[in-house]
Amino acid sequence: MRLAADVVVIGGGATGSGIVRDCAMRGYKAILVERGDLGHGTSARFHGLLHSGGRYVVADPHSGAECAEENAILKRIHADAVEATGGFFFQIEGDDEEFADKFIEGAKIANLPFQEITAAELLKREPRCNPKATRVMEVEDGTIDGWQLVWGACRSAEAYGAQILTYHQVTGIEVSGGRASAVQCRNRKTGEEVVIDAGFIINASGPWAGQVAALAGCHDVNVIPGRGVMVAMSHRLVNSVVNRLVKPADGDIIVPVHTVCIIGTTDVKVDDPDNLELPRSEVQKMLDAGELMVPGFRESRAVHAWAGARPLIKDDRVSASDTRHMSRGMAILDHETRDGVAGMLTIGGGKLTTYRLMAKNITDVMVDKLGDDRPCLTATEPVPGSEDGKNYHVSHRLREREEDRLEDQIICECELMSRKMFTKLLQDNPEASFDDLRRQLRLGMGPCQGGFCSLRATGIACSEGKWSADHATAALRLFLKNRWIGLWPILSGEQLRQAALDNWIISGTLNVDHLPASEEVVL
Ligand SMILES: Cc1cc2nc3c(=O)[nH]c(=O)nc-3n(C[C@H](O)[C@H](O)[C@H](O)COP(=O)(O)OP(=O)(O)OC[C@H]3O[C@@H](n4cnc5c(N)ncnc54)[C@H](O)[C@@H]3O)c2cc1C
Repeated sequence: MRLAADVVVIGGGATGSGIVRDCAMRGYKAILVERGDLGHGTSARFHGLLHSGGRYVVADPHSGAECAEENAILKRIHADAVEATGGFFFQIEGDDEEFADKFIEGAKIANLPFQEITAAELLKREPRCNPKATRVMEVEDGTIDGWQLVWGACRSAEAYGAQILTYHQVTGIEVSGGRASAVQCRNRKTGEEVVIDAGFIINASGPWAGQVAALAGCHDVNVIPGRGVMVAMSHRLVNSVVNRLVKPADGDIIVPVHTVCIIGTTDVKVDDPDNLELPRSEVQKMLDAGELMVPGFRESRAVHAWAGARPLIKDDRVSASDTRHMSRGMAILDHETRDGVAGMLTIGGGKLTTYRLMAKNITDVMVDKLGDDRPCLTATEPVPGSEDGKNYHVSHRLREREEDRLEDQIICECELMSRKMFTKLLQDNPEASFDDLRRQLRLGMGPCQGGFCSLRATGIACSEGKWSADHATAALRLFLKNRWIGLWPILSGEQLRQAALDNWIISGTLNVDHLPASEEVVL
């Protein structure tokens, strides 16, 4: 198949989704290609924090200011993806008190909305926090759902005429006469080869940006993936984001996300973003760090661990192995000046919180290079689904299930997912894998980690005639295998008992490992 576009954006994470929206809103015919599902890379393997900017105000007030501005914008344009939880930075007896003073200084420079409150007030609002809290700053941190954000941006882009091609892996970039002219892709579901003639190409493939740039002969784009490990606990132990008020370190933030809370993270330089280890030692480090902020944290059940890779472009100011102290600021590479390949830009670095600004900045560069005059329009118009301006609230599914309880069934008690939600999504996406459905429905993401709901969902997918038994079994096996990756590093205590129970049901009762399953299911 051969397609054509003014702009081809490579990568369907937050950055690429923001860019395709920005280009489409400026009137360009834009196509986004993503090798997996939307939000398949780092934008789903992150901590879930909508930064207030507080984390950066001491070391980099400029970055803090960008976060503060984008925080306010995203709360409006992605209202349905953001939970406005608020947040606290707090010190514990023995912490460096000067750091609290530096925080105040930096916050003023960055124009960050904040106020110092008493430890007693913190403990009133978040009673599980360490009673040895001393100084506390209240900030406007929030929680953001990375998937909801990328779908919102892409749905908005589609409304402006963009095309979104998921499961399309870029395998080559054609360069003719010193200009990047076409993108070659392979549809990973069907095997079809697709070539897209491109007026301009923007590489937003995050930690893979170096590999993608090399397809156009632009070598040595030095992306240093900084691996971070995170652990989800079975409940919301806090309802606001809580941060330690110290120099950024491992495991110093707990974020309440949907029905769970997440402690993170570490930061270790790795070579391959497709092979991210989950060392048990780092998981234990996270649990210890959580214990310091919320005594008793370890007694709560860890339900899942995962790792993501920060797409940091190498900065010569610090040593290459020190990823925590590299700038989180964005980097834009112009391959015309850098490599003699016109019509192609690469973007890296940044944060999910600043995705819209990153998209604006790189699209501005492209617009300049094309000699056009088309201003950015993304800061004011809400994406589809966020028009009412109401931020997400954790209890929304409870309210919805109360409303439809007489005509629908609940098939996931942890996440209050109903049968109709599942069958409707499957009907709209017959090619989806269970993981694709999970990303939209949170199937298997609650405390039982799919132990019950995945089996019910498999039965429904078959009984409603959508999937053959073979296909459904293969999909279930793949789903359970993928869930297992995040379970084994946390197997101890109550979680081990839960995993054993799930395993007895899956292997002992249903013998899922030995059922016939001939069809291949693409992740
Ligand atoms: C551990 C950790 C915690 C973080 N926590 C936070 C946080 O709490 N708040 C915050 O604001 N930021 C956070 N960040 C940063 C944030 O997650 C990232 O900056 C952001 O998600 C990067 O988005 P991206 O679109 O650039 O990259 P990605 O989301 O990785 O997207 C790149 C996409 O390119 C695709 N791709 C790669 N190769 C190809 C190819 N050949 N063809 C087609 N597609 C391809 C990939 O599949 C991927 O989906 C965190 C990062 C990490 C690692």
